[in-house]
Parts: sequence; C-alpha cells; structure tokens
Amino acid sequence: MSADVIIVGAGIIGAATAFQLSLAGAGEVLVLDRATAGSGMSCRSSALIRMHYTFAPEVELAVRSDAMFGAWPDLVGRPGCVRRTGFVRIVRPGEEAALRANVAMQRALGARAEVIDAAGVKEVAPGLWTDDIECAAWEPDGGYGDGAVVAGDLLAAARARGVRYRPNTPVRSLLTDGDRVIGVETGEHGAAPAGREYAGTVVLAAGVWSPPLLRTAGVTAPIETELHRVALLAHRAGEGAPVACIDSVTATYFRPEAGGAMTLVGSFAGPRGADPDTGVSATQEDLVPLVRAALSRIPSLADAGIVGGVTGVYDMTPDARPLLGRLPGLDGLIVAAGFSGMGFKIAPAVGESLAGLIAGPARDSVDVTAFRPGRFAEGKPIQAPNPYSDD
Ligand SMILES: Cc1cc2nc3c(=O)[nH]c(=O)nc-3n(C[C@H](O)[C@H](O)[C@H](O)COP(=O)(O)OP(=O)(O)OC[C@H]3O[C@@H](n4cnc5c(N)ncnc54)[C@H](O)[C@@H]3O)c2cc1C
Repeated sequence: MSADVIIVGAGIIGAATAFQLSLAGAGEVLVLDRATAGSGMSCRSSALIRMHYTFAPEVELAVRSDAMFGAWPDLVGRPGCVRRTGFVRIVRPGEEAALRANVAMQRALGARAEVIDAAGVKEVAPGLWTDDIECAAWEPDGGYGDGAVVAGDLLAAARARGVRYRPNTPVRSLLTDGDRVIGVETGEHGAAPAGREYAGTVVLAAGVWSPPLLRTAGVTAPIETELHRVALLAHRAGEGAPVACIDSVTATYFRPEAGGAMTLVGSFAGPRGADPDTGVSATQEDLVPLVRAALSRIPSLADAGIVGGVTGVYDMTPDARPLLGRLPGLDGLIVAAGFSGMGFKIAPAVGESLAGLIAGPARDSVDVTAFRPGRFAEGKPIQAPNPYSDD
C-alpha cells in the first residue's frame, strides 16, 4: 500500500483534509495534485467570509471555520489571513421575514449577526446607495481571505506533520476492485512515469475536475460547471466597496481589495457547461455589464477603472450544496466536491469533518450527513426552511 489515505487535489479542500488527517493521526497521507497547491479554483476565489446561509449545517460549517481562521497562527503557524471588513447581505424587497428567520437561526448557532434597515446600512457601509433597501443582515466579523494562501498554509502545516505531497502528478483514474476503490492511476508528467498508488481510502477533492475522475469508477456525479466573472477596479483609497457584500437587488457581490484602493465585483450567476481549463482572464467587454450593475449600489465606482478580471468555474450541484462523504455502493472513496461557489469559507471545518469520517469525529466537528452524496438518488435534496428567491 502506498498510503493509508490518498487525497486527489491540493486545493483548499484537499489541503484542509490533509491537515486535519495529520492532526487526527490517521496514518500515512499522500496528497497528489496535477499542478500545485491552490492552483485550481482556490486561487481564483473571491474568498468572501460570511455566516449568512439559509441551511443550518452550512452556518455551522462557516462558524466553525471562522473560529479556525481566527486562531490561524496557533492552528497552522502562519500569520492570519482574514480581513474583517464586515459583511452586509442585502435581500430583495419582500424577503424581510426570511432574512429575520435566517439571522435568528445563525445567531442561535453562534454567528454574530443582526438585522439592520437602510439607515443601518448607511452607517456600517458609508458610500452605498440605500434607497431601495428594506432590510439587510450585518455581520461585523465578515470579510474575506485568500484561497491560494489558505491552501498553501494548510498544506505546509500538513507536510510539517508528515503528510507527503506530490505536485505535478495528474491522476488519470480511480482504481477499483469490485465495489471498492483501492487507489489511483497517475499519468506521466515531465520526468515522472505513470504509475499506481494504493490506499485504504481515497479522498476525491479535485473540485470542478472531479466528475471525469468519478466516471472512471462508473459514477455519474450530479455536478455541472458554471462560469463566473470577477472584475477588479482601481480607485482612490476608500472610494470603493466599504465592506464585503452580497446584494440580491443588483445580483452582484463585492468587497474591498488592496487595502481599499481597489474593489472586486463578482457575478451571482453565469452560463452552464463551462470548460474549467479554458481562459483565466476576462475581457473588458465581459466585465462592463457586471460593473454597471454594481454601480447602482456603489455610485463612486463610476470614476473607477477596470484594471483586470478573472473567470472562474463553480462546480454546481442540483441543490447548490456540496457532496461530502461516501458514495452508496462504493467503498474506499470519500467525495468532497460540488461546492457550488461556497467552498472557501467552509473549507477548514469541511476538512475536519471529512477527516472525522476516516479517523473518527473530532470534538465539536460539524456533522455533514446532510451533505451525503446519495441524497439526490434518495430524492432528498437539501431544502432550506426560509430560502430566498435567488438561492
Ligand atoms: C470566481 C470564484 C469566486 C468564488 N468566490 C467564493 C467566495 O467568495 N466565498 C467562498 O466561500 N467560495 C467562493 N468560491 C468557491 C471556492 O473558491 C471553491 O469552492 C473552492 O476554492 C474549491 O476548492 P477545491 O479544493 O474544492 O477545488 P480547487 O481549488 O479547484 O482544487 C482542486 C485541485 O485538484 C487538482 N486536480 C484536478 N484534477 C486533478 C487530477 N486529475 N489529478 C490530480 N489533481 C487534480 C487541481 O490542480 C486543483 O489544485 C469561488 C469560486 C470561484 C471560481
């Protein structure tokens, strides 16, 4: 056997799982990535941090992860990477009751969150146009991080605890023996020859690239790709986004960047079926409609210049929640994919919960049974009690 656990993918999810397995003393762990740590969608992430979700286990994962981000130097021995600018969630008019119910649920689960009106938004986020806002949620601890940095920190900490890592090692297929995954087949890369690696458990954390690997074990994953664009605007310091914000009215999200000298604006939705291997940068033409939409919320951006933009691809499931755990009828494999645009802020706790499926749950780890991959075949997709119209 090459290892007790093989993790395919050194993005933020694979790295978090490797780190937590090392803490749990789960034996030999080997991480394989076709490129380098964080080089997939993690480095293109807008990396917003918020507790505002409509389904309780999502909130639990966000709250637990946020505590880990807060304890970063003690946890991984690296400087903290989260900027706590505060976070505002603006919902469409008519959705106040759902917002209030969700904030109450989040507070009960340990989130610092409150409902504020338009005047409250003006106070916490000066510069936002608020005339069309009925109410919003405010999280003083919200903000943003950096996906590549977090993936790198977690992997470095895992390696310091004995986890082995092989970058530039593409996995071509999952190896099966009857109804069990027993390892992976790697492809040739540079000087490295193709080969086989065997393990008691394989964790598939290859993000948007997971479905083709699952197909090699005869599994069709309910995951579709969705293209998203993110614009970066430069302006005078302090004249852009004052906080991190998700705004259902303009269908954009935004946050400060570069210490307030820039603003990042992202799209809510995008076309399905995108190829995750094409095009990282977005054209001005693609970005203009997105920036125009955000202008009505941040009027000062009218004087800002678009200095760049990226495209990224979400791995969307039918209920827009991740697939976490074992597949029915196929032993030896744990799936961690389909994050549907939410993987950054929950990654540290997801890694802990997945490690718990292998090594036994850690104290206070989040139960991720609700995200079991088999829920769609059971006819039980996740349904939040108080969803928003654009959830
Ligand atoms: C534009 C954009 C904005 C986002 N904004 C936010 C946000 O604001 N907040 C938030 O919480 N989340 C956000 N997300 C989502 C979040 O970034 C992702 O859910 C998260 O980064 C996914 O991490 P991952 O480890 O699953 O995947 P990835 O980071 O993509 O890692 C997968 C790894 O697998 C490797 N790999 C792929 N195929 C193979 C193979 N065959 N063999 C070996 N290795 C392989 C890749 O090289 C890669 O390193 C955003 C995503 C995008 C694209």
